[in-house]
Amino acid sequence: MNTRKKVTFILIGVFILLGMVLAVSVLFNFREYGIKSAKEKAELTSEIVKNGLTAHMVNGMMDKRRYFLQKMEDSKNMNALWISRTGLVVDQFGDGIENELPRDNIDREVLKTGKPYVKYTETWDSAELRATFPYIASSKGTPNCLKCHNAKEGDVLGSISMVIDVSEMRGSWLNSIFYIIIISILAIIITLFVINNALRPYMKIFDSVKDVMAKVSSGDYSKRIVSVSSIEGQDVADRINGMLEKLQGALTELEGKVGIFLLNKSYKRHKDPLVAVREIINELSDIYKFKKTIELDKDLDEIYARIAQVLRIKFGLNDFNIIEKDIKKSTTRFVHVEKKIHCLAVEEGCRADRTRAPVNSSVFENVCSSFSCDSCKYLCLPFAISDDLNLIVSIVSENDKEKKRVDSLPYFIADYINTARSEIVSVRLNKILQDTARLDQLTGLYNRKFLEEFVEKSIPQAKRADKTYGVLMIDIDHFKMINDTYGHDVGDEAIRIISRVIKESIRESDVAIRFGGEEFLVLLYNCTNEHIANVCSKIGEEFSKQEIKAKNEIFTKTLSIGASIFPNDSDDIYRCIKFADIALYRAKNGGRNRAVKFEKGMEDM
Ligand code: GH3
Ligand code: MG
Ligand code: MG
Repeated sequence: MNTRKKVTFILIGVFILLGMVLAVSVLFNFREYGIKSAKEKAELTSEIVKNGLTAHMVNGMMDKRRYFLQKMEDSKNMNALWISRTGLVVDQFGDGIENELPRDNIDREVLKTGKPYVKYTETWDSAELRATFPYIASSKGTPNCLKCHNAKEGDVLGSISMVIDVSEMRGSWLNSIFYIIIISILAIIITLFVINNALRPYMKIFDSVKDVMAKVSSGDYSKRIVSVSSIEGQDVADRINGMLEKLQGALTELEGKVGIFLLNKSYKRHKDPLVAVREIINELSDIYKFKKTIELDKDLDEIYARIAQVLRIKFGLNDFNIIEKDIKKSTTRFVHVEKKIHCLAVEEGCRADRTRAPVNSSVFENVCSSFSCDSCKYLCLPFAISDDLNLIVSIVSENDKEKKRVDSLPYFIADYINTARSEIVSVRLNKILQDTARLDQLTGLYNRKFLEEFVEKSIPQAKRADKTYGVLMIDIDHFKMINDTYGHDVGDEAIRIISRVIKESIRESDVAIRFGGEEFLVLLYNCTNEHIANVCSKIGEEFSKQEIKAKNEIFTKTLSIGASIFPNDSDDIYRCIKFADIALYRAKNGGRNRAVKFEKGMEDM
């Protein structure tokens, strides 16, 4: 029901109620007034009859009283009028011209008690007043009753009875009520007409505002308030429409201009642009806070840890790794391991990195051969950070439900990684500059300064990931002789050659350091005794085949290697280096051109 109908119904109700109250009140007052008038008329008539009879008696015309009483009875609305006399009067004067004995019990009661009787009786179609007034003997006044009557003061001599018709009076009350009803109806019609005309535009606006606001709350800002005839009403409608127009324009513009900053378009699922804009702003605000925070992070590892924190807390991931691929150096490393390493990305390379496309086990089972677990549900997302750096986020899900949720996250994660991109690039550039200070000029291998930092960062990681490092200490045999025989330049060339041989014999996850003059430290990531032995013989054999050119001569040299394994020999990497050095010493003493693996007890000799 619209507002206008509601108001109309309320007004009709109020008018009907008012009309009824008025009618009842008028009915009640008229009735009371009518009864009162009838009583007064009865009393007056009684008085007239009494005085009239006295006058007849004084004038000796008592025998003519019938005419007088008849005239009184014929008066308007007088249904009946009669007089009665008591035994006292009957005894003295007989029972009257006609029978003036009491006609009913009311007469008899009044004659007996001397108390007047007045009663108003009402039926559906008639209303009358029955009244009987006593004549009481009194010695006062003129003429004096006691002069003619054999009675004493206060005796009841007779009574006047009458029946007055009150129907006519009641008719006039009903007429009044009828007029009240007619007036009420007219008032209702006029009021409704006036109100309807005066309120119609406002009601129309009100109904329209209701409809428009219902649409707005469901996200549709395109509806407008209808036009109305009232100037004031139209002004209100125009203002609301103007506001809606601005709101709709602003929201569409905001959604379009701000939404482009997000790769994830999840806000589009909201029909209400206000909710969509709120979601965009919330998301951008989170991303902005993330950006501001990583700007103050001290190094790449802290930034990676921050990305991991977002993946963990914002996206609720609990099993994921972040892998960094350095394209220039051809190195792959796990920069964050949340739970454990699930794949052989370091050893065998990463499919997502190679294909530059997401690798999703839901699309094709066992899609990535580097994944160690066949039943794993994984999603690996590659992100190109710079020309020489890719990041791969590898997420493992516990079950299908979780996997489905993870499959909806790539764009959300991309928003964060893209935000971190410039910061990663700049921090990395800084790192490259710093790394230059950690590189040996002659060989391009790391120097000892790098070793300290590497140990500080990578060794705890290896411990957490339960990975080993093979530690090799490599030294050229009788190197001094090269310097002495062919000169320092040839010695330098020999150092360059051994560096190249070492580089070519190890994997990208391994680290080679120029430890001293012609002494090199190699850390072989995640390796076994067997692997160490293989690498040692490869380096030894390869170097012994290298032809070193002197002025007029070409010669070859051998090398010796001492090896230990971290954390099997010691969970302190520096002790492992020391043990490798002891093993090297053993190799030298054992005749050189060999590799010796550190054994327990060697350090005591
Ligand atoms: P061993 O078989 O016992 O190792 O005998 P060795 O002669 O190689 O002895 P050692 O390893 O102690 O020799 C180190 C020499 O390397 C001493 C130093 O003159 C030389 N050396 C150190 N740094 C450089 C360098 O940068 N260039 C050249 N050409 N020689 C260097
Ligand atoms: Mg040497
Ligand atoms: Mg040496």
